[in-house]
Amino acid sequence: MVDFKGELTMERRKFIKGAGVAGVAAGAVAASSFPKPAISQGRKEWSMVTTWPKNFPGLGTGAEIVADYITRMSGGRLSVKVYGAGEIVPAFESIDAVGSGTVEMGHGAPYYWKGKVPASQYLAAMPFGMTAQEQNAWYQYGGGQEIADEIYAEMNCKFFPSGNTGVQMGGWFNKEINGVDDFKGLKMRMPGLGGEVIKAAGATVVNLPGGELLAAMQTGAIDAMEWVGPYNDLAFGIYKVAKYYYYPGWHEPATTLENFINLDAWNSLDDELKTIVQAANTVANQLVLSEFMARNNDSLQKLVNEHNVDVRPYPDDLLQELGRISGELMTEFMSQDPLSKKVGTSIVNFRKGALEWTKLSEQTFTAARSLPFKYVQL
Ligand code: CA
Repeated sequence: MVDFKGELTMERRKFIKGAGVAGVAAGAVAASSFPKPAISQGRKEWSMVTTWPKNFPGLGTGAEIVADYITRMSGGRLSVKVYGAGEIVPAFESIDAVGSGTVEMGHGAPYYWKGKVPASQYLAAMPFGMTAQEQNAWYQYGGGQEIADEIYAEMNCKFFPSGNTGVQMGGWFNKEINGVDDFKGLKMRMPGLGGEVIKAAGATVVNLPGGELLAAMQTGAIDAMEWVGPYNDLAFGIYKVAKYYYYPGWHEPATTLENFINLDAWNSLDDELKTIVQAANTVANQLVLSEFMARNNDSLQKLVNEHNVDVRPYPDDLLQELGRISGELMTEFMSQDPLSKKVGTSIVNFRKGALEWTKLSEQTFTAARSLPFKYVQL
């Protein structure tokens, strides 16, 4: 399979080499050695802080894709440098760093900012909400982008969807989860609205940045955690600290990652650069999802065959109960502030139609595909 990250790196090398031939590289070098602002040359240099460890697979590559595409598509008129969590600010201070203008851009997941603007968490995922394709359709054709911008304006930021994980896994545990009672007293890392659901089921929800999670599992500060899916979870090494790996990720059926941009910095861009930034995010949004699709199964096989992980489905009656709790909680949360009401109502309405179509298209097709007929034998 194509390694998008490797490809980008190579393309970038080609770009820099090609530019050198054209005599532009000297200018680029000079620009980077000048103290900011280098705007007098018509070039801008932006910094992007992230909530991810530097070069973290899947999640972190979304940030790299955005930065790389913006820099290349603009011919270096706008260049973006990515900083991992903690390099400039701690992960969870990224939105403040961008909103206040300390840096121009950030990359993360919208539910991290629920303490600032509760409505932001609906933009990541709703428990039992939408698939990746449905969620992207909502952003692009269902009014999602406009509502997201309204929510992020509260934090002085412009918003772009910038990657999607697809359906996540349900989480890592060191005990069996057979019913909703097994969540009682469990200290579990689960962000966003899903975390609220297991809290209602009796769990204690602990939210920590990714970089601190394994140590917390080892010290017993948390009993269980969810992160993303096989690709990220294998790379992260979570199998070293937990035995059972449950599915599906009802709490994050298709989490949208985000690129947030300081509003003043965004407004300072001309139309061409704005279009480039938007396009770079559209690319990242698709490539991240494709990367997860391409990598998850191989990673799952490694987890099972090399690391003896016990992969299990959540029982249907547990999912039914979590679904019921989700419905009640979302109804309550959506009534708590006008923006939550607006975004939640829009998603729930869109989900209704999407669910009907998906039910007789993707759902019946994937079921048909799984019938036990003999397919092409290789
Ligand atoms: Ca997750």
